[in-house]
Amino acid sequence: MSGEPDDAVSARIRGWMTEAFPLCRSISGDGVRRTLDLIEAALPPAATLRRTGVPSGTEVFDWTIGEEWNVAGAWITGPDGQRVVDVADHTLHLVSYSAPTRTSLSLEELRPHLHSLPEHPDWIPYRTSYYHRDWGFCLPHRRLEALEPGQYDVVVDTTLEPGELVYGEVYLPGETSSEVLVSSHLCHPSLVNDNLSGLAVTLELIRHLVAQDRRRFSYRFLFAPGTIGSLSWLHGNPTVVPRIRHGLVLTGLGGGGPLVYKRTRHGDATIDHAAEHVVRHRGGEVRDYSPYGYDERQFNAVGFDLPVGRLTRTPHGEYAEYHTSADDLDFVTDDELHESLTALTEILDILERDEVVTNESPYGEPQLGKRGLYPTMGGKSASDAVMAMLWTLAYADGKTSLLEIADTSDLPFSAVRSAADALLEAGLLS
Ligand code: ZN
Repeated sequence: MSGEPDDAVSARIRGWMTEAFPLCRSISGDGVRRTLDLIEAALPPAATLRRTGVPSGTEVFDWTIGEEWNVAGAWITGPDGQRVVDVADHTLHLVSYSAPTRTSLSLEELRPHLHSLPEHPDWIPYRTSYYHRDWGFCLPHRRLEALEPGQYDVVVDTTLEPGELVYGEVYLPGETSSEVLVSSHLCHPSLVNDNLSGLAVTLELIRHLVAQDRRRFSYRFLFAPGTIGSLSWLHGNPTVVPRIRHGLVLTGLGGGGPLVYKRTRHGDATIDHAAEHVVRHRGGEVRDYSPYGYDERQFNAVGFDLPVGRLTRTPHGEYAEYHTSADDLDFVTDDELHESLTALTEILDILERDEVVTNESPYGEPQLGKRGLYPTMGGKSASDAVMAMLWTLAYADGKTSLLEIADTSDLPFSAVRSAADALLEAGLLS
């Protein structure tokens, strides 16, 4: 990564996630604004964050921007005067979008407003109620079970008022106006793999791209609340949408398991070929599109039909910690996050540097030795380099791309690209 030690990159990823962890994010409100502040503060000087606010009541395709939600505090006091649960201790304690409430209830009346996970009695679940006005608290099942009968005082000091939905984007211009879209949701409260991992790795990806000498494509990074945020962006950018050539949704980039790439709806886009190549070489898994998941389902919707795939490690819903307080800073490892970042740079490198080449010496095998391309000393890495040149020459028919040659030869794209560079230099390819 730009010659920087891996440790420095990992420390930056972890530092950013640690700072963003306590913020009470949701699909609107100050938690989103503060998170955008942290994103802005982490950007390299060449990148700027542009924020867009969409007012409550705005129609966005089949949806309407709802009221803005903000939290001043929320807690329940038990019959003994002790606080049973307090959002100040953990953002997951309050059901997201809980309506303002002050009331006194018996345990029996309170019980339907309490959520827990009997199968993981020490974890706090994550619950939302965006589109149905309600309130509730989430707590460890062990604590819920210990509640004594009696009267409970509930304070939900929140506001649900006309305001705005906010999203941010970073645009890095390239040599062409064709764009690569990279999107990450920012609407989950204190959840690390399912939210902060995508944001923190995206910030490093921006750094990586800014450090490149040249970019064939322009890049747009979207930081938006899930579903309603990406739809708001699509709604507000009808002239940008046709410029998107490739896209990726990023989340769940730590938290164990191999890399998992989810294909675009058509399954045969350039991003599919590039991501599949990288993920398979790294022992990961490739899956077909399905209309459930993250914002890939908005971008791939029939009306937009954008070639946007998704990179995660173990996907949502397939690990026990998903949407619970166990998806914390300890759940994701530096190595997992770093490998995800490296895989992303490899995928973008293919988008940037894949091309079709033609063998200029097609009548038999050209003599590599007289051009200084054949090592005089044997050795494993040297013969790998020679093999990459032989594969490239063998398939450089003016129709086959370097990525296709890499797939055919089962060599990494970077090896074929290096071989092609050496052959171009020697005049054996055009
Ligand atoms: Zn989620």
